[in-house]
Amino acid sequence: MTLRPLPPNATIGIVGGGQLGRMSAMAAARLGYRCHILTPEPDSPAGQVAAGVTLGEYEDPAALRDFALHADVVSFEFENVSAEGLDLLASIKPVHPSPTVLRISQDRSAEKSFLNRAGVATAPWAPVETYEQLQEAVARIGLPAILKTTRLGYDGRGQARLARPEDVEAAFHRLLPHPLILEGVVDFSCEISVVCARGADGGYAAFDVVENRHRDHILDLTLAPARIAPETAGAAQAIARKVADALDLVGLLAVEMFVAGDGRVLVNEIAPRPHNSGHWTIDACPASQFEMHIRAIAGLPLPPAVRHSDAVMKNLVGPREAALWPRILATPGLIPHLYGKTEARPGRKMGHVTRLFAKGALPGEFGIRAALDGLAPN
Ligand code: AMP
Repeated sequence: MTLRPLPPNATIGIVGGGQLGRMSAMAAARLGYRCHILTPEPDSPAGQVAAGVTLGEYEDPAALRDFALHADVVSFEFENVSAEGLDLLASIKPVHPSPTVLRISQDRSAEKSFLNRAGVATAPWAPVETYEQLQEAVARIGLPAILKTTRLGYDGRGQARLARPEDVEAAFHRLLPHPLILEGVVDFSCEISVVCARGADGGYAAFDVVENRHRDHILDLTLAPARIAPETAGAAQAIARKVADALDLVGLLAVEMFVAGDGRVLVNEIAPRPHNSGHWTIDACPASQFEMHIRAIAGLPLPPAVRHSDAVMKNLVGPREAALWPRILATPGLIPHLYGKTEARPGRKMGHVTRLFAKGALPGEFGIRAALDGLAPN
């Protein structure tokens, strides 16, 4: 299948008003498109830079219809939109990625079943609907393990680590909503991800594998490229391609993976949208992840996902890191990005900074912390 290229001045509808929609709208504008945002939030990060906004709930049929009428093609910037809402949109306008892809990615159980069926390795896992199933799963998978809600979890929310048998029952009752899944803990040497784009004609472009460091379950640093063996990077790229093809994806996909202690690459989760671990591409690549996303859903050719520099990206999370803004602006070499959020709550992603290095010159961990000029914690 091919998509007729969306002509200049056409309007791309984006469900969701966050920073991913904001940076997508900025990339779309550069390609001569307008964006129209569906969000319940007045003054949203994406709404601030878009040509238009439909203010409404993602489940409200009237809001969805109004939004669809403003758009020539529709996409989404986060996974917790209702798949039924996307179905309604798809009955009015083309939606990329498809509601089927969204359904897989928004449910950990569906996601892991899909990955395993596609021949992609994950941590050992089991679906858990009842306490008896949880006991059986603990007996099979062993402890330590992680209990997760299947839906609506992000940045570590909806998860409990089970270290001892005594932890099991309380976690089962505390974690809501059910159903849940139990996952074996992967003893990983690092966390990596691949962001790739796939067009309706099967055209494909993937950025280099990057390494992700989390703090309090929230992405803190991304290092591009990941400092891993070429075979490991090759395995990660092959997995991303396999997942994108198996999904018959039209759009952008992030595949988050663990490099296990024994060198195996296991998929943690997938996200069919621009991803925080791809923000470095804005500054280090001729075509960013956001441009790739817009090109893929607009039926434009995908350029190679080349990188002209190495990069480190640091998220600015919560009030403490948001307060570093004047210092960031005054530090040569730091490339600042702010998302237009007025309230800096703890754990909220307020912006990010990128620092570029000559290709091959990405310093080690402590070099990076020095390069960020004390922005990163010790
Ligand atoms: P998630 O919400 O599934 O992406 O999990 C958030 C973070 O928790 C991951 O980035 C890992 O650092 C950690 N994590 C999640 N699942 C596992 C696992 N099965 N083994 C080890 N660490 C995990």
